[in-house]
Amino acid sequence: MKIAIRNGRVAQGDRLVKADVLVEDGLIRAVGHAGPADRDLDASGCYVLPGFMDFHTHVDDHIGRFYLADNYETATREAMLNGITTLCTFVTQAEGQTLRQAMAAARAKALDTCHGDVLWHLTPTTFEPGDLRFLEALLEAGYRTLKFYTTYRPAGLYVSYQSLGDLFQRLSPLGATFMVHCEDDDIIAHVEPGALDLSKAVSHTRLRSEEAEVEAIRRVTELALAKGASLHVVHVSTLEGARAIVAAKAEGDVSMETCPQYLYLDETFLQRPDGHHWLCSPPLRGHREAFRALAREGAFDMVATDHCAFRPEDKDSWNGQDLRQVPNGMPGLGALPHVTWKIWEDDPDRSALGLATHLALNPALRAGVADRKGAILPGLDADIVVLDPHGPERPVRSTGVPTFEPFPGFTTKLHFRSVLLRGVPRVQDGRLLEPDRPMGVPLQPDPETLPFT
Ligand SMILES: [Zn+2]
Repeated sequence: MKIAIRNGRVAQGDRLVKADVLVEDGLIRAVGHAGPADRDLDASGCYVLPGFMDFHTHVDDHIGRFYLADNYETATREAMLNGITTLCTFVTQAEGQTLRQAMAAARAKALDTCHGDVLWHLTPTTFEPGDLRFLEALLEAGYRTLKFYTTYRPAGLYVSYQSLGDLFQRLSPLGATFMVHCEDDDIIAHVEPGALDLSKAVSHTRLRSEEAEVEAIRRVTELALAKGASLHVVHVSTLEGARAIVAAKAEGDVSMETCPQYLYLDETFLQRPDGHHWLCSPPLRGHREAFRALAREGAFDMVATDHCAFRPEDKDSWNGQDLRQVPNGMPGLGALPHVTWKIWEDDPDRSALGLATHLALNPALRAGVADRKGAILPGLDADIVVLDPHGPERPVRSTGVPTFEPFPGFTTKLHFRSVLLRGVPRVQDGRLLEPDRPMGVPLQPDPETLPFT
């Protein structure tokens, strides 16, 4: 079936072009004048943008002793309703498990339940020779993104700078991109918790200081530049850290993301009586104006959510005395395009192009899927968002499952007139079509089908 998306303004590189988009057999066939089609979708008054990608989400997994509130079905549902046609999430190798087993478990949860496509970033936690050979085989088969942490020793996730350097050296020739959570564990370990009032959520900002993030960013970017590694720093929250990465970009393949919460929420949320709801790592910080100004200049390659939704009873399960018992993380998936839009909201065309770049093209490039996703070009998957910027004003909603809303009082006028996944309309006028027929697929090959030695 041929579908023509007519009369919209289509994101083409750094421009918006008045054009039709012709879609057939799941792919974009032409951008220009569409000619006759089996079905027309009206995009007049709308932006026509590539389907969005949230590069950083946590779903359907254990985080410490808690299990996340969103599974693959609910997360991809909320994503699709907000134009996010590809969800990137993590496979983390747990204790007593191989990475291969962890990947099989994630795939089993995702299969036949996802409304949008899924891409996994991998967090291996053991590095025996066999583990490294498996990683190399995955990279050769097209896997690209590996995630590491310079902190979280008790959770078994910590990787030293030395080990990170060794991994950069060994896996970079195979095309790996290293996503790194940068907080210096030694600086965090040297904070004396007894000197802080741990009943106050705002003390989190002292447990995990700006200095800890900046130091880890400095160390990890230096290592990446020295080893010629592709580095993506996740959830940057500090102005100084962001500026260090901007400087490093001139010297190597370095990119970064920030999150809606670091742009628009500050530590005053931690001072509220229910401030523990906003606990995440790195923490919310002080003044955000200069940080937002940096975002306006385009310093961040992408905005991603670090969506990590806990059930209310889990987030509230602490004793009120020690904030370290509170699970860290907040939802954000459904808020992503709406809050990112605000960065340039006095200039809607720039906001639309900002979404195309920060939520589609750059994440697709970093994930290694730009030959299929991330732009409106003939031959690519027809993942397309028809976005009306003048819809009825409504509250931003971060997720559809019971949790708390981290963006209270935030509203949006963005209205998703149509969202297509590989050429099939999945959302029409803000409603999910055929919710019982999810058609998302994993973008990466099943390791069980790969020829391993
Ligand atoms: Zn995360």
